[in-house]
Amino acid sequence: MPQKEKEKEKPRHQVYTDISELPGVGPATAEKLREIGFSTIEALATATVAELEAAGISERKAEELIRLARESIEISWVTAKDLIRLRSGIRRLTTGSKALDALIGGGIETQAITEFFGEFGSGKSQMCHQLAVNVQLPVERGGLDGAALYIDTENTFRTERIEQMAKYLGLEPDKVLERIIYAEAYNSDHQILLLERADKVIKENNVKLIVVDSLTAHFRSEYIGREMLAERQQKLNKHMHRLLRLARAFNAAAVVTNQVMARPDEFFAPMAVAPVGGHVVGHTSHTRLFIRKTAGKNFRIVRLVSSPYLPEGEVLIKITENGIEDVEEEEREEYGRKR
Ligand code: ADP
Ligand code: MG
Repeated sequence: MPQKEKEKEKPRHQVYTDISELPGVGPATAEKLREIGFSTIEALATATVAELEAAGISERKAEELIRLARESIEISWVTAKDLIRLRSGIRRLTTGSKALDALIGGGIETQAITEFFGEFGSGKSQMCHQLAVNVQLPVERGGLDGAALYIDTENTFRTERIEQMAKYLGLEPDKVLERIIYAEAYNSDHQILLLERADKVIKENNVKLIVVDSLTAHFRSEYIGREMLAERQQKLNKHMHRLLRLARAFNAAAVVTNQVMARPDEFFAPMAVAPVGGHVVGHTSHTRLFIRKTAGKNFRIVRLVSSPYLPEGEVLIKITENGIEDVEEEEREEYGRKR
């Protein structure tokens, strides 16, 4: 088929860059959309009719707006072959350890949620700090050339630590700090709200990593006892779903932490993640990594516990002044002898 005809075959959709440009969206509707967290076309494309209806938008209008937003960013049914192309849009962020990157298929992937779980002091927050720096690296160095959004629920984020890590990588500490957009969440409702209002800040700052450290601490302390379990899970699932939708809409990596006792518990009920736009069907998106201390030294064992498509396995990393690093062969031998 000649090129010209091919182009004719595929209808070109109108591209909108802001919700206020959508037909039928006046200032009042735009305001409503912003209030419920859909201030960008990208986020609106992942909305459900029920969500917009809850904000007082009619069903018909909601359907129309979501359709226009989806067409604008071309989320629709695709063939499995197209899926290869779309999936190739997935990018990977280095953890700082080549061994760990390899374990998870080349680094932390975008459009998905990666969870680090482990005991207090195992290094979950250290990993989050490191990723917030690494995301700013150019793609050639394993970064995503973007900014980080950092939701801190336990007040453990330390700018000094970022500076150390940035210096080690030869980055200018001040510039690195400027590209970490930070918020402390005071309780689970605040945490949920922060993420619901995040789409604009993500877009404006080219955020390529969203960190929630810790995802579960507030939920754990606020929803106590069996009778609150169902409500907790339901809220948490919705929160994670929101996170996943942001990660997909902006091709960003989402990283969360979860503190657990020595034995990994079943905090997460098997999560049913509905595909949002149809274009990422089949790519369920929750990679779980168990991180634990070892006897002595600054070594940590990271175990891939659950991945949509990779086998289980574990690697040794270390946490030093410089950040997250690989364990050298000599150190490994020494470690083996001592054990
Ligand atoms: P959690 O899993 O509870 O979030 P953290 O990420 O806060 O744990 O890990 C804390 C540990 O990280 C410390 O006990 C220490 O072993 C290591 N660590 C933190 N800062 C440094 C540093 N500057 N140099 C070396 N190790 C560090
Ligand atoms: Mg921590």
